[in-house]
Amino acid sequence: MSKKILIDLTKLRDHHITGRGDKPRIDGILSDHPNTNGLKTLRELAVFRFTCRRCEEAPCIQVCPADALEKDVEGMITRHTNLCISCKSCVTICPFGTMMSDFFEHHRDPERYFDLNDEKELRQFIQYNPGGAVKMVDMEENPEQDIYALNDQVLVKDIPYDKLKNENDG
Ligand code: SF4
Ligand code: SF4
Repeated sequence: MSKKILIDLTKLRDHHITGRGDKPRIDGILSDHPNTNGLKTLRELAVFRFTCRRCEEAPCIQVCPADALEKDVEGMITRHTNLCISCKSCVTICPFGTMMSDFFEHHRDPERYFDLNDEKELRQFIQYNPGGAVKMVDMEENPEQDIYALNDQVLVKDIPYDKLKNENDG
């Protein structure tokens, strides 16, 4: 079994490195992820997959002046980076604060964004993350531990919105 990258979004989401500019949040980029439509951060991919509430009349899609957002067949939002003009109207209108404005940066500081398909950058990404937020593991998806496959290379630990909702309702 080949090793996978396990990213604990419950830790990474709020992690900032001190001394690295005014927005020192770091993130990973998957340069050949099938759903990227251009370079996207892991947080964006994971947020649309796990946190977005998949609103029926999605206000983010309605407000987008560039038709850059659409739902796939499962109702998951995807953003076309070639159309997005970074106006951030979707960030403002989302009633649940799902999106973060740094998803929409076109010029990514190489000191903060690491291509996980590049061995050296992956090592740096692991090194800069605190408390084991990113590590290499020999395991598969395990929903009981809130670990889900983002693709065949990356596992993400996060609590999906529908699971949280069921726990709160129950
Ligand atoms: S930031 Fe991009 S995706 Fe969001 S509303 Fe503006 S153009 Fe659309
Ligand atoms: S408005 Fe927010 S929660 Fe609703 S579909 Fe759009 S991103 Fe998801």
